Amino acid sequence: MFHKKFLNRFTFGQLTMAFVFIYLIYSITSFVLYQSTASIVNIVISGFLVILAVTDKLQSKHTIRKNYPIFARFRYMFESIRPEMRQYFWEGELDGKPFNRRERSIVYQRAKNEKQTVSFGMQDDPNRIGYEWASHSVYPKHISDTNFRTTIGSDLCSQPYSASVYNISAMSYGALSKKAITALNEGAKIGGFAHNTGEGGISQYHRSGGDLIWQIGTGYFGCRNEKGFFDDTLFEERSNYPEVKMIELKLSQGAKPGHGGLLPAEKNTVEISKIRSITPHTTVHSPSGHTAFSNPTELVHFIARLRKLSNGKPIGFKICIGKKEEFLDIVAAMVETGIHPDFITIDGAEGGTGAAPLEFIDYMGMALNDALVFANKTLIENGLRDKVKLLASGRIISAFDIAKTMALGADACYSARGMMFALGCIQALQCDSGHCPVGIATQDETLYTALDVTDKRMRVANFHKNTMKALGEFIGACGYENTQEVNPKTFNKRIEHGVIKTFQEMYFGNLDTRKVK
Ligand code: SF4
Repeated sequence: MFHKKFLNRFTFGQLTMAFVFIYLIYSITSFVLYQSTASIVNIVISGFLVILAVTDKLQSKHTIRKNYPIFARFRYMFESIRPEMRQYFWEGELDGKPFNRRERSIVYQRAKNEKQTVSFGMQDDPNRIGYEWASHSVYPKHISDTNFRTTIGSDLCSQPYSASVYNISAMSYGALSKKAITALNEGAKIGGFAHNTGEGGISQYHRSGGDLIWQIGTGYFGCRNEKGFFDDTLFEERSNYPEVKMIELKLSQGAKPGHGGLLPAEKNTVEISKIRSITPHTTVHSPSGHTAFSNPTELVHFIARLRKLSNGKPIGFKICIGKKEEFLDIVAAMVETGIHPDFITIDGAEGGTGAAPLEFIDYMGMALNDALVFANKTLIENGLRDKVKLLASGRIISAFDIAKTMALGADACYSARGMMFALGCIQALQCDSGHCPVGIATQDETLYTALDVTDKRMRVANFHKNTMKALGEFIGACGYENTQEVNPKTFNKRIEHGVIKTFQEMYFGNLDTRKVK
C-alpha cells in the first residue's frame, strides 16, 4: 500500500532518501549560519539517519529494507520483542505456549512459597471436547507425608534407588549455565529428589550434593574413547561416583527423536572437553543412533554390561515412541534374554529442548499419554511390569499432570521446564540464541552472573515440595493414600458433547493396570 508511487513519480524509498538528505543539508546549513547546540544535535541525528538509509539501500539481503529504508527496521525490532510484548500486554491467563500464564504463575508461586490459590472460579471450559478431570471421592484421605517415593531397581540390580516421584529432567551443562546447573543440583539435594545430568556428561556443577541420574546419549560424553565409541573404563569410573544413583541410556528425545547433535568448536572449551572426554576446540558430532548396539538383543546386553560396570546400579533407557514395532521388539528381547532394564523413561513428543528443527519439534514422535499407555500395556502383557519402572516426561508441571501421568502408568515423573521456571525462566524462548535474559540457557558470563544460586536453589526445592504437597491434597481428595493407588478409572475425558470416558475405558479396556507396590 505504501509503495504506491507518490504523484505517480516517487516511491516510498525515494521519498525517505530525499527526506534524510534534505534534513542533513538543512542541519549543516543551520550550523554554518547559527552554530547553535540544536544544529549540532540535528547534524548528528540526520547524519545517523543518512547512514541507516544508505546502508539499507545498498544492501541486498533484505528486500523490505531496500524498498522501505529505515522504516523496515521497525518491523525487525517489533518482531524481536513480540514474545515479550505479547506476554506483558496481550496474553490472557490461558494463552501462551508452550506454557500458559496460569501454568507459569503456579510454578513461580510455589517456588517463592507464595499464595498458591486462584480466585473466582475456573477459567477453562469444562464442556469443551478434550477437557480432562479427576473424580473426587466422598471419602477423601488426609496425607501427612507427601514425600512420595518409588523404588527403582529390579532383581538384576544390587543398588536400588528410592526416587522421588518428581525429578529434574535431562539438561546438560553447556546447554545451561554453570550457575543454573549448580542451583538445580543443590535444590535437588535440599528437596531429596534426583537431577538428570543430560547427555553432556557429569560436570563439577552437577556434583553439588544432589542425587544424579547420569544420562548417556549417542555421543557417550564422559565415557567415550578418542574415536567416539563407548569406553568401559571411563564409564566404570564415573558410574561409580557415589552421587550417581541411576544411569539412563538415551535412545531418543521427545522434542527431536532421531536427530543427532553437534557441538561447535567454539563451544568446545577446555572445561567442556574434560567433562565430555573429547578434544577441545574441535567440532564434535553426536550421531542420531548408537554405535554400541544395533539391534534389540545387543541393546539389552549393553544394559547388562552397564549394570555390571556400575556395580549393580539401576539402568534404564529413555525413548520417545516412534515405530511401535521397534519397542515391541525390544520388549521381546527382554523376555527372550531375561535381561531387562530397571526403568524405562517415556518422553512425550511435547517434551522440551533448547534447539531443534521445527519439523522434529512439531511432527515427530508420539505424545506422552499415548506413548505411556502403549509402553505400560506392552510391559503388562509381557509380564515385565513388576520388574521395570516407568518414568515419564513431557509438559508435567502441576500436581494434576503428575497424578494423571501416574494414572496412565508412570511410577515417577520428570520436569525440565517446570524446574527452569522455578529458576526464574520467563519463557523468553531464546534458549538457542545463547542470550537467555535470566542467565539459565546461556554461557555468557555477563548474563549468568546475576543468577543467585543461594536463592534459586531454594526456589527449586520449594517448587518440588509445594508440588508434592499439592499432589498429596489432590490424590487425597480422590480417596487415595499414596501415588501407587492412583488409577485410570479416576480420570475422565470429554470425547464429544455428551460423551465422557474414563482413562480406563479409553486406554486400557479390561486390562488391570494396578502397580506393584
Ligand atoms: S528465559 Fe532463558 S531458559 Fe527461559 S525460555 Fe527464555 S531463553 Fe530459555
